[in-house]
Amino acid sequence: ATMRPIEESMERQSRFVSDASHELRTPLTALQTANEVALRNTKLKIGEAREVLEYTIAEVTKLRELTAALLGLARSDAPLEREDFNIQEAISEAIQPIIPVAQEKRISIDDGATRQIVHANMQASAQIIRILLENAVKYSPDKTTVRLMVEPMKTHTDLLVIDQGVGIESSDHDKIFERFYRVDESRSSVNGSGFGLGLAIARELAAKQGIKVSVKESSPESGTTFCIRFPKK
Ligand code: ADP
Repeated sequence: ATMRPIEESMERQSRFVSDASHELRTPLTALQTANEVALRNTKLKIGEAREVLEYTIAEVTKLRELTAALLGLARSDAPLEREDFNIQEAISEAIQPIIPVAQEKRISIDDGATRQIVHANMQASAQIIRILLENAVKYSPDKTTVRLMVEPMKTHTDLLVIDQGVGIESSDHDKIFERFYRVDESRSSVNGSGFGLGLAIARELAAKQGIKVSVKESSPESGTTFCIRFPKK
Protein backbone atom coordinates (compact mmCIF):
# COMPACT_ATOMS: atom_id res chain seq x y z
CA ALA A 1 0.00 0.00 0.00
CA THR A 2 2.89 2.36 0.77
CA MET A 3 4.19 1.81 -2.77
CA ARG A 4 1.05 3.13 -4.43
CA PRO A 5 1.79 6.89 -4.52
CA ILE A 6 5.26 6.19 -5.95
CA GLU A 7 3.90 3.82 -8.58
CA GLU A 8 1.24 6.33 -9.53
CA SER A 9 3.73 9.13 -9.84
CA MET A 10 6.02 6.95 -11.98
CA GLU A 11 3.15 5.98 -14.22
CA ARG A 12 2.12 9.62 -14.55
CA GLN A 13 5.67 10.48 -15.55
CA SER A 14 5.99 7.77 -18.18
CA ARG A 15 2.59 8.73 -19.65
CA PHE A 16 3.77 12.32 -19.77
CA VAL A 17 6.99 11.38 -21.57
CA SER A 18 5.18 9.28 -24.18
CA ASP A 19 2.52 12.00 -24.75
CA ALA A 20 5.25 14.61 -25.13
CA SER A 21 7.40 12.61 -27.54
CA HIS A 22 4.33 11.84 -29.62
CA GLU A 23 3.55 15.55 -29.88
CA LEU A 24 7.14 16.35 -30.86
CA ARG A 25 7.54 13.59 -33.44
CA THR A 26 5.08 14.87 -36.06
CA PRO A 27 6.46 18.41 -36.48
CA LEU A 28 10.03 17.09 -36.37
CA THR A 29 9.31 14.59 -39.15
CA ALA A 30 7.66 17.31 -41.24
CA LEU A 31 10.72 19.53 -40.78
CA GLN A 32 13.11 16.78 -41.76
CA THR A 33 11.09 15.90 -44.88
CA ALA A 34 10.82 19.51 -46.07
CA ASN A 35 14.57 19.97 -45.74
CA GLU A 36 15.45 16.65 -47.38
CA VAL A 37 13.16 17.30 -50.35
CA ALA A 38 14.67 20.76 -50.86
CA LEU A 39 18.21 19.41 -50.62
CA ARG A 40 17.53 16.65 -53.17
CA ASN A 41 16.28 19.21 -55.71
CA THR A 42 19.46 20.07 -57.69
CA LYS A 43 17.65 22.89 -59.52
CA LEU A 44 16.37 24.53 -56.33
CA LYS A 45 15.87 28.26 -56.88
CA ILE A 46 16.77 30.84 -54.26
CA GLY A 47 13.08 31.82 -53.87
CA GLU A 48 12.10 28.22 -53.16
CA ALA A 49 14.98 27.84 -50.75
CA ARG A 50 13.81 30.93 -48.87
CA GLU A 51 10.32 29.45 -48.59
CA VAL A 52 11.75 26.29 -47.02
CA LEU A 53 13.80 28.40 -44.62
CA GLU A 54 10.75 30.47 -43.65
CA TYR A 55 8.74 27.32 -43.03
CA THR A 56 11.60 25.87 -41.01
CA ILE A 57 11.92 28.96 -38.82
CA ALA A 58 8.16 29.09 -38.19
CA GLU A 59 8.11 25.40 -37.19
CA VAL A 60 11.17 25.71 -34.96
CA THR A 61 9.54 28.69 -33.21
CA LYS A 62 6.45 26.56 -32.52
CA LEU A 63 8.61 23.68 -31.28
CA ARG A 64 10.43 26.01 -28.90
CA GLU A 65 7.09 27.17 -27.49
CA LEU A 66 5.95 23.58 -27.17
CA THR A 67 9.10 22.44 -25.36
CA ALA A 68 8.94 25.48 -23.06
CA ALA A 69 5.35 24.56 -22.18
CA LEU A 70 6.31 20.93 -21.60
CA LEU A 71 9.21 21.89 -19.36
CA GLY A 72 6.84 24.13 -17.37
CA LEU A 73 4.54 21.15 -16.83
CA ALA A 74 7.37 18.80 -15.91
CA ARG A 75 8.80 21.04 -13.18
CA SER A 76 8.62 19.91 -9.57
CA ASP A 77 5.25 20.00 -7.88
CA ALA A 78 6.46 21.82 -4.79
CA PRO A 79 3.83 24.26 -3.50
CA LEU A 80 4.23 27.94 -4.44
CA GLU A 81 4.81 30.68 -1.88
CA ARG A 82 1.73 32.75 -1.07
CA GLU A 83 1.18 36.35 -0.07
CA ASP A 84 -1.66 38.85 0.11
CA PHE A 85 -2.01 40.85 -3.10
CA ASN A 86 -4.62 42.76 -5.05
CA ILE A 87 -6.07 40.71 -7.95
CA GLN A 88 -5.99 43.91 -9.98
CA GLU A 89 -2.16 43.73 -9.99
CA ALA A 90 -2.12 40.19 -11.41
CA ILE A 91 -4.75 41.18 -13.98
CA SER A 92 -2.73 44.18 -15.21
CA GLU A 93 0.30 41.97 -15.66
CA ALA A 94 -1.69 39.26 -17.46
CA ILE A 95 -3.51 41.65 -19.79
CA GLN A 96 -0.46 43.43 -21.23
CA PRO A 97 0.70 40.75 -23.70
CA ILE A 98 -2.92 40.04 -24.72
CA ILE A 99 -3.81 43.61 -25.71
CA PRO A 100 -2.19 43.59 -29.19
CA VAL A 101 -3.79 40.22 -30.03
CA ALA A 102 -7.20 41.47 -28.88
CA GLN A 103 -6.81 44.73 -30.84
CA GLU A 104 -6.14 42.77 -34.01
CA LYS A 105 -9.59 41.17 -33.63
CA ARG A 106 -11.23 44.39 -32.36
CA ILE A 107 -12.01 42.59 -29.11
CA SER A 108 -12.27 44.84 -26.08
CA ILE A 109 -11.16 43.65 -22.66
CA ASP A 110 -13.23 45.09 -19.84
CA ASP A 111 -11.54 44.80 -16.44
CA GLY A 112 -13.62 47.35 -14.60
CA ALA A 113 -14.10 46.70 -10.89
CA THR A 114 -11.62 44.01 -9.98
CA ARG A 115 -9.89 45.32 -6.86
CA GLN A 116 -9.80 42.63 -4.20
CA ILE A 117 -7.14 41.21 -1.88
CA VAL A 118 -6.47 37.47 -2.22
CA HIS A 119 -3.90 35.08 -0.76
CA ALA A 120 -1.91 33.22 -3.45
CA ASN A 121 1.20 33.43 -5.59
CA MET A 122 1.00 36.64 -7.59
CA GLN A 123 3.18 35.62 -10.59
CA ALA A 124 1.58 32.21 -11.02
CA SER A 125 -1.88 33.79 -10.66
CA ALA A 126 -1.04 36.26 -13.42
CA GLN A 127 0.01 33.33 -15.61
CA ILE A 128 -3.31 31.54 -15.03
CA ILE A 129 -5.26 34.71 -15.85
CA ARG A 130 -3.16 35.21 -18.99
CA ILE A 131 -3.90 31.65 -20.20
CA LEU A 132 -7.66 32.19 -19.75
CA LEU A 133 -7.56 35.61 -21.44
CA GLU A 134 -5.53 34.21 -24.33
CA ASN A 135 -8.15 31.51 -24.87
CA ALA A 136 -11.06 33.93 -24.49
CA VAL A 137 -9.61 36.06 -27.29
CA LYS A 138 -8.60 33.06 -29.41
CA TYR A 139 -12.01 31.37 -29.28
CA SER A 140 -14.12 34.51 -29.77
CA PRO A 141 -15.24 36.15 -33.00
CA ASP A 142 -14.09 39.68 -33.92
CA LYS A 143 -15.68 42.72 -32.28
CA THR A 144 -16.79 40.96 -29.10
CA THR A 145 -16.02 41.73 -25.46
CA VAL A 146 -14.05 39.80 -22.87
CA ARG A 147 -15.06 40.77 -19.35
CA LEU A 148 -13.30 40.25 -16.04
CA MET A 149 -15.43 40.28 -12.90
CA VAL A 150 -14.62 39.77 -9.24
CA GLU A 151 -17.08 38.16 -6.82
CA PRO A 152 -15.87 38.36 -3.21
CA MET A 153 -17.28 35.78 -0.74
CA LYS A 154 -16.60 34.93 2.90
CA THR A 155 -13.92 32.25 2.42
CA HIS A 156 -12.81 32.85 -1.17
CA THR A 157 -12.93 35.29 -4.07
CA ASP A 158 -13.97 34.32 -7.59
CA LEU A 159 -12.45 35.94 -10.64
CA LEU A 160 -14.66 35.33 -13.67
CA VAL A 161 -13.34 35.50 -17.24
CA ILE A 162 -16.37 35.92 -19.48
CA ASP A 163 -16.24 35.69 -23.27
CA GLN A 164 -18.79 35.80 -26.09
CA GLY A 165 -17.03 33.06 -28.03
CA VAL A 166 -17.80 29.66 -29.54
CA GLY A 167 -18.65 27.99 -26.22
CA ILE A 168 -17.76 24.52 -24.89
CA GLU A 169 -20.06 21.46 -24.72
CA SER A 170 -20.72 20.40 -21.12
CA SER A 171 -19.23 16.95 -21.85
CA ASP A 172 -15.92 18.73 -22.54
CA HIS A 173 -15.85 20.98 -19.44
CA ASP A 174 -13.46 18.64 -17.59
CA LYS A 175 -11.61 17.18 -20.58
CA ILE A 176 -10.28 20.53 -21.79
CA PHE A 177 -8.03 20.59 -18.69
CA GLU A 178 -6.24 17.40 -19.80
CA ARG A 179 -2.95 17.99 -21.58
CA PHE A 180 -3.07 17.89 -25.39
CA TYR A 181 -6.89 17.81 -25.36
CA ARG A 182 -8.54 20.17 -27.85
CA VAL A 183 -12.23 20.24 -28.66
CA ASP A 184 -11.82 20.61 -32.40
CA GLU A 185 -8.39 20.10 -33.95
CA SER A 186 -9.27 21.82 -37.23
CA ARG A 187 -10.85 24.81 -35.49
CA SER A 188 -7.88 25.18 -33.14
CA SER A 189 -5.25 25.03 -35.86
CA VAL A 190 -7.16 27.55 -37.98
CA ASN A 191 -6.83 29.95 -35.08
CA GLY A 192 -3.08 29.39 -34.97
CA SER A 193 -0.85 28.20 -32.11
CA GLY A 194 -2.33 25.94 -29.49
CA PHE A 195 -1.04 22.59 -28.35
CA GLY A 196 -3.83 21.82 -25.93
CA LEU A 197 -1.50 22.54 -23.00
CA GLY A 198 -2.69 25.96 -21.79
CA LEU A 199 -5.47 24.80 -19.47
CA ALA A 200 -3.42 21.82 -18.21
CA ILE A 201 -0.71 24.30 -17.18
CA ALA A 202 -3.30 26.64 -15.63
CA ARG A 203 -4.75 23.85 -13.51
CA GLU A 204 -1.32 22.65 -12.41
CA LEU A 205 -0.26 26.18 -11.39
CA ALA A 206 -3.57 26.51 -9.55
CA ALA A 207 -3.12 23.25 -7.62
CA LYS A 208 0.26 24.46 -6.29
CA GLN A 209 -1.33 27.44 -4.53
CA GLY A 210 -4.79 26.35 -3.41
CA ILE A 211 -6.61 27.93 -6.37
CA LYS A 212 -9.37 26.19 -8.35
CA VAL A 213 -9.95 26.77 -12.06
CA SER A 214 -13.13 25.54 -13.75
CA VAL A 215 -15.75 26.25 -16.40
CA LYS A 216 -18.59 28.01 -14.61
CA GLU A 217 -20.97 27.99 -17.54
CA SER A 218 -20.80 27.80 -21.30
CA SER A 219 -23.08 27.65 -24.30
CA PRO A 220 -22.55 28.01 -28.06
CA GLU A 221 -25.00 30.94 -28.08
CA SER A 222 -23.58 33.12 -25.33
CA GLY A 223 -19.96 32.10 -24.83
CA THR A 224 -17.98 30.82 -21.87
CA THR A 225 -17.37 31.86 -18.28
CA PHE A 226 -14.28 30.48 -16.55
CA CYS A 227 -13.92 30.81 -12.78
CA ILE A 228 -10.65 31.20 -10.87
CA ARG A 229 -11.38 30.66 -7.17
CA PHE A 230 -8.81 32.34 -4.91
CA PRO A 231 -8.53 31.52 -1.22
CA LYS A 232 -8.63 34.31 1.35
CA LYS A 233 -6.08 34.22 4.12
P1 ADP B 1 -5.23 25.22 -26.84
O1 ADP B 1 -5.98 26.51 -26.75
O2 ADP B 1 -3.77 25.39 -27.05
O3 ADP B 1 -5.85 24.26 -27.81
P2 ADP B 1 -6.00 24.80 -24.04
O4 ADP B 1 -5.56 23.75 -23.07
O5 ADP B 1 -5.73 26.22 -23.65
O6 ADP B 1 -5.29 24.46 -25.42
O7 ADP B 1 -7.53 24.61 -24.33
C1 ADP B 1 -8.04 23.32 -24.64
C2 ADP B 1 -9.26 23.42 -25.53
O8 ADP B 1 -10.36 23.98 -24.80
C3 ADP B 1 -9.08 24.33 -26.73
O9 ADP B 1 -8.51 23.65 -27.83
C4 ADP B 1 -10.50 24.78 -27.03
O10 ADP B 1 -11.15 23.82 -27.83
C5 ADP B 1 -11.17 24.77 -25.65
N1 ADP B 1 -11.28 26.14 -25.08
C6 ADP B 1 -10.44 26.70 -24.15
N2 ADP B 1 -10.85 27.94 -23.81
C7 ADP B 1 -11.97 28.19 -24.53
C8 ADP B 1 -12.88 29.30 -24.63
N3 ADP B 1 -12.73 30.42 -23.90
N4 ADP B 1 -13.94 29.19 -25.47
C9 ADP B 1 -14.14 28.05 -26.21
N5 ADP B 1 -13.31 26.99 -26.17
C10 ADP B 1 -12.25 27.03 -25.34
